[in-house]
Amino acid sequence: MLLGSHVSFTKEGLLGSTKEALKYGANTFMFYTGAPQNTIRKPIDKNYTLEAQKLMKENSIDITKVVCHAPYIVNLANNTDLTKYKFAIDFLKKEVERCKELGIKLIVLHPGSAVSLDRKTAIKNIVYALNNILEDEENICICLETMAGKGTEIGVNMNEIKSLLDGVKNKKCIGVCLDTCHLNDSGVDISNFSNYLDEFDKIIGLDKVKVIHVNDSKNELGSKKDRHENIGFGTIGFDSLINVLYEPRLENIPKILETPHIKDNIDSKKSYPPYKEEIEMILSRKFNPTLIEDVLKNKLN
Ligand SMILES: [Zn+2]
Repeated sequence: MLLGSHVSFTKEGLLGSTKEALKYGANTFMFYTGAPQNTIRKPIDKNYTLEAQKLMKENSIDITKVVCHAPYIVNLANNTDLTKYKFAIDFLKKEVERCKELGIKLIVLHPGSAVSLDRKTAIKNIVYALNNILEDEENICICLETMAGKGTEIGVNMNEIKSLLDGVKNKKCIGVCLDTCHLNDSGVDISNFSNYLDEFDKIIGLDKVKVIHVNDSKNELGSKKDRHENIGFGTIGFDSLINVLYEPRLENIPKILETPHIKDNIDSKKSYPPYKEEIEMILSRKFNPTLIEDVLKNKLN
């Protein structure tokens, strides 16, 4: 199984990310090239990148399955402020270049939010932008993430995802990232994931699934909320998530945990990543009811 988590990129760029992933016992990972909530980006450090690629090779991490997540404030769906829309397109072009410098192939992107526009127009804007960004690309794949349906988010059902994919001309450079929390919150019952995949295969094609975000949810089916929970501690539950993780049709797809860090029980400003413990629990296929306590005992940073 290709299993990892969201890791940081701030210390030593891709090298820091690789070291962090190895600490969790992961064999893949996902990073943002800077803070997810802004578009400030430092130039890529070539030496760290080379060292990272070497370390990945030594540890059998396949770099073509490592994932970059574009910042979630970039909105390709709304063009009412043309300066902002153009900035978003330019930013993603630069993000593609950064990924090529790093040797990364998969970029996860939230399709965007319609805001004041109707959904049809929003989809048209996203398609236009993606065609512009991917025009001359070959070795990169932008993976559109399935969304929970918060506010005016686009990409909340299979038909919207299909419309987006249909509009993109450069077919080999476009794919999908399924997020279990978002699917649950948008109304897809994960306890029936096999049925969802059957339908996805019929409408879109399973070959388009390039990344899975594996998260439990704090909210009920169809709540349109998007709040992630630790594996087995939410409304989706451990068994349903294990079925997603061990689904044979998705065997070679990287599975990424974006579950919340655990707050320190004494100093609430401190928190610890739960990924080592969650990965252990997933690989053992046995729910660990003391996961939170174990994370606070181990205090990995
Ligand atoms: Zn996600």
